[in-house]
Parts: sequence; structure tokens; C-alpha cells
Amino acid sequence: MAKKVLKFGGTSVGTIERILHVAKIIKKENDAGNEVIAVVSAMSGKTNELLKQSKTISEDFDKRELDVLLASGEQVTSALLAGALIKFGINSKSWLNWQIPILTEGENSNARIINMSTSSINKFLSEKGVAIIPGFQGISKVGDITTIGRGGSDATAVAIAKIFDADLCEIYTDVDGVYSTDPNKIPVAKKIDKISYDEMLELSSLGAKVMQSSAVQTAMMYNIPLEVKSTFTARQGTKIFDQDSIDYTKSVTGVAYSKDDAKITLVGVQDKPGVAANIFEPLSKNQINVDMVIQNISSDQKTTDITFTIKREDLLKTIEILKSNKTIQYESLNHNDKVSKISIVGAGMVSTPGITYRMFRSLADEKINILAISTSEIKLSVIISEDDTLKAIKKLHTVFDLD
Ligand code: ASP
Ligand code: MG
Repeated sequence: MAKKVLKFGGTSVGTIERILHVAKIIKKENDAGNEVIAVVSAMSGKTNELLKQSKTISEDFDKRELDVLLASGEQVTSALLAGALIKFGINSKSWLNWQIPILTEGENSNARIINMSTSSINKFLSEKGVAIIPGFQGISKVGDITTIGRGGSDATAVAIAKIFDADLCEIYTDVDGVYSTDPNKIPVAKKIDKISYDEMLELSSLGAKVMQSSAVQTAMMYNIPLEVKSTFTARQGTKIFDQDSIDYTKSVTGVAYSKDDAKITLVGVQDKPGVAANIFEPLSKNQINVDMVIQNISSDQKTTDITFTIKREDLLKTIEILKSNKTIQYESLNHNDKVSKISIVGAGMVSTPGITYRMFRSLADEKINILAISTSEIKLSVIISEDDTLKAIKKLHTVFDLD
């Protein structure tokens, strides 16, 4: 017998038929003797629809009222799911954010769960009851309804797993796990059976968006085992653990890519202390996230070139800041927004020599030019021309034994 938190995303509860199907999944767990807390999202599209309605009243719709409105989507699915379980003869009950209560801190639409009361739900679980909790919301210290950021039901599920000391948190969604690369682009991509939190974070922040990254971070912090699986197939999903529980047979676990980067090069900046700080200070003040940074060694000891990457959507703003800031001097500014970032990710990379060389050689064999490089313990990323994206992923997927 285990205590499990099962989270069902928007598509999993997108229709009444699907809610009935989810009820059957939960019934199976309950019949097997497991204690189940289910966390639900709103029906797919519902939150957007509510948001749109608020905007037709005002672009600047009152923040407190917006949270009351948005939180209602999950209230609907909670009641429908509890009702479906009751119909199947299961003792089930939904709890709303204020009934538990789920306490949050921080401003409306961007609050964080800090605690919740467990006693009445635990009592209900011990009587073979299935508790249903709406994701994405809570209440503030003064009792106002809050929401915790879009996609926040993952965070709710992980917080509940922690606070209720669950054995496992299962994320049910519309894909059956995390893949070695994008299966829509590379049909030979394989589902990964086990992955570490760190690898999952690298893969999801780079494009394999299966689960909210901040929720994975919380799970990592408290060592809560996760499993991502499909609501619509019975296949085993991807288990996410800490690194020590995984035996690495391969050096690379996955190949990720993102197409939302842009590259800027400042040619001929002075090679003296404070120059890099002068460039990046105004960017950070303007909330522009800089990803990779490369500074060439100065050949004449006077000037050098600095290249860095940012999100593509920040390109114009960044150029404007650099051009208007008089403390930043350079000969010329080049930019390129037709680039993509390709990364190989793997906790097994640390113990395998020659990975860097193999990646560069494979790209060279495909005549792909590398524009920038960055490395971390479990990741090696390069910036290349956007047109070469597919070719690069395909090649690396094969070279690192992932096909
Ligand atoms: N319904 C919310 C959203 O669409 C929360 C979630 O689905 O996780 O953002
Ligand atoms: Mg969602």
C-alpha cells in the first residue's frame, strides 16, 4: 500500500468522457489499496477562456477578482471527478482551496503554496476515501483566493506530495513520458524510463515541456519521486528520481533544442576591467536573461569581441539598450535571430571522456558551423544556424546511441 498524489492535466479532464476515464484510473489505485489524493487542472482551454472574458471587461481586470475567476476552472473539474468516483461506488470528496485550507504567500496570480492543513484529508484517506483537490490555487493570509501561476497544478501536486508525505507523485498528461528528443521531429526518439531531476530540468527547460520546471525543482529539493505518464495509454511512463538511484548505461540521455534564442556580438569592445559588467548590468536591470556568454581572447591586448545569447523576443529591446547606453562602447554590433540551441544532456557525461569531441566532430561531419558553446556538468550546448536544427538533432541522436 502506498500513499500517492495523482495529478491530471487539462487534456486529461478535458471532457466528461475523459473525467469518467480518469475516475476509472483512480478507482484501480483505490481498489489496489493505495491512498489517493487527486489534484486536477481545469478542463483544457478553460483557464484561457476565463482570462479572455476578464479582458473583454478590462485589460486591467482587478487582480483579486481575476484569481477568483481563474480558480473556478479547477473547482468545476474537482466536483465532476468526485461525482464520477461516487457514481463508481468510491467514497470521494472534493475540497476547495479555502476548505483545506491551502495557504499561499505572495501576490495574486503569482502566489506560492507555503502550507496546508492535513488532518481532515488524512482522516478521510484512512477511511478509504479519495480526496480531490483543485490545482493552481490557494488562499492568502487574509483569506483571499490566490492562483500560483499558469501551469501551476504541477506545483500544487508536488507541494501536496511533500506536505502529506506521499510515497509518489504521478503526473498524468497527454504524452506518455519524457523522450530522448522531440518525437514529433525525430520518429526514432525513445521514451526514457528513468531520469534524474537535473536531467529532467535540462530537458524540459530546453523544449521537452512535459512538466512545469519549478515543480520539478521542488520535487528535487525534497526528494519526491515523480512519474510522468499518459492518461490515455496504460504504458509505463518516465520515472524521475535523484541521480544516485539511477544506473547510467549511456553517457547521453537526451538531445534537446530550442528555437527561441538570438545571438548578439559586440565587436571591438575594450579589453579592460568593468567592460563586461557595463554591458550586462543594464540588461539585468531590464529583466533580460542572458544565456551563453563568450569573450574572445584579445590578440592586441586592447580590444576583444563579446558574444552572448538571449531570448529571441528580447532581441530588439536588448539592441536598443546597448545602443542607447553611453557607457558601452564597441566598433560594431551584429545580431542573428535565425539560430537555435542544441544540447546533449546526460548525468552519465561526467564519467565519460571524449563527449565534447564527439559532439563537435559529428556536427563538423554534417558541415554544421558552431556559433557558440556552453557546458555544464550534465549538459553541452551549441548555438547553430536554425536551418541546421533537424540535421543536428538527428545526427547527435544517432551518434550518442539513442535511436
Ligand atoms: N489551469 C491552469 C492553467 O491552465 C493550471 C494548470 O493547468 O496547471 O494554467
Ligand atoms: Mg496545464
